[in-house]
Amino acid sequence: MEKRGEFTYRIAYGCWLNDSRTEPIVCEEWPSIRIDEETLSSLDKTMKFIKEAGYEYFDVFGLITNNRWTNDIVSTVNEERKALVRQAIDIIHKHGLKLIYGLGVYSWGFEDIVATNAAVRGTSRQVMCASSAEAEKIMQRVVDFVDTTFEIDGYHLEAADQGRCHCDQCQKYSDIEYYNRINMLVATYIREKYPEKTLLVNTSGYLRWGDVFDQGQLEALRPLGEVIDVFIDVGSHGIFVAEEDRPEFIKKFGASFGTANGFWIYPPQRWDRLRWFIPHFQQNIEHLGRLYQHGGRSCELYLSPLTNPGVEFTFLCNGLFLQDPSRPLDSIVREAVERLYNPQDEAEAKEIAHLFVEGERLFFDSYTSVRNRTIEEKYADGLEDVFLWSLESPEKAIPGELFLERLFGVGPGFPTYLVQHFDAKGREKYRLGIEELLQRTTKLIGKRAHCERLSRLKQSLLMVLADIELVNRELDLS
Ligand SMILES: [Zn+2]
Repeated sequence: MEKRGEFTYRIAYGCWLNDSRTEPIVCEEWPSIRIDEETLSSLDKTMKFIKEAGYEYFDVFGLITNNRWTNDIVSTVNEERKALVRQAIDIIHKHGLKLIYGLGVYSWGFEDIVATNAAVRGTSRQVMCASSAEAEKIMQRVVDFVDTTFEIDGYHLEAADQGRCHCDQCQKYSDIEYYNRINMLVATYIREKYPEKTLLVNTSGYLRWGDVFDQGQLEALRPLGEVIDVFIDVGSHGIFVAEEDRPEFIKKFGASFGTANGFWIYPPQRWDRLRWFIPHFQQNIEHLGRLYQHGGRSCELYLSPLTNPGVEFTFLCNGLFLQDPSRPLDSIVREAVERLYNPQDEAEAKEIAHLFVEGERLFFDSYTSVRNRTIEEKYADGLEDVFLWSLESPEKAIPGELFLERLFGVGPGFPTYLVQHFDAKGREKYRLGIEELLQRTTKLIGKRAHCERLSRLKQSLLMVLADIELVNRELDLS
């Protein structure tokens, strides 16, 4: 039941198991599904924190596989992996959180099956054909396996972000009908067989980024709303339900509606965890406040490594807001400072708050939200393909989801965000601002007993300065 005033579904989104890990995974391609001691101890600390910050659900991909379901499904994981997955799930439950299992629907994990089983093969190597009866059975076997092997509390159904089948039979479906069809097949199966599970669908891939649903498409989504619990308009590169259509749509939609943060950093798997300082709670709270006014009562907020002070502060402020959207920002910031930094007096509390409030302002005042599209490939974020839709309207190509290094690769990547979204003037403004925050942090450290968080904050600011210097040096030479 929704308590007066709070968001009903307060979901922390992994989104992959190691994205919030305290130590980076430097020499492995994203997304790593490793479960080792570090994964489990990071998970333990992270789950404790998010529960205390007011979140109720943890939604995560990669517990069982990233892209390799076997034909018989059950041998996808061996006994050793099963035991590790169970340990991870126990940690999540121990902290009083519910686990939403990230499940690819006809996609994410079926490449081997598509390659070896003609009955599920359509026109794509990555996704199973939506018109195949055999594919429907395979999805049911996957759900049965997950549900009878592990104690999970719900499913995040992801059908649309790896494309679709265009065979003669599938061609008759528009994209929306196609993705709705497979989401509803799987959701209905789960609903009937495992009725207590929470069901979430995320819009990623439903439309081309930059587009919004028209009235006909919004109508076509309604039946889905009747069989799921939560519908997330994720907004990695723009939301799909236009804000002007949102209040009316939500009013008549069967499921709880929500978004992600509005703006977030996609955690760089291979980077030192202190290498960026980008608090973004003010932006997030503004975005979530509008969602709430429009009737949205869900959100799925991207996790990052909480050892990064900017990440930690943001995640806590967002969590406090979700529990009481009428609460003024000042009061939220004040509580976050108290809880994390235990200030000695009023002046110190104000000074610590300043670091985060101004740290966020500084970043957004210095950065250019529209992509710089003329930079050399070696400095770019590798996302140009994702943004091809915006060649004629480049002003629309705004993150959503900001990447700091290239998503793919091995070894710590170049800080692409300082080139893709900063010009020389912006970088200089950012450098000067970070210098000032560094001086203030150093002063705070000098005046009080050892505070491990402030030391991490200082380290984080120093690493940002080192990256700005690296970028300036590289660009001058090129
Ligand atoms: Zn097909």
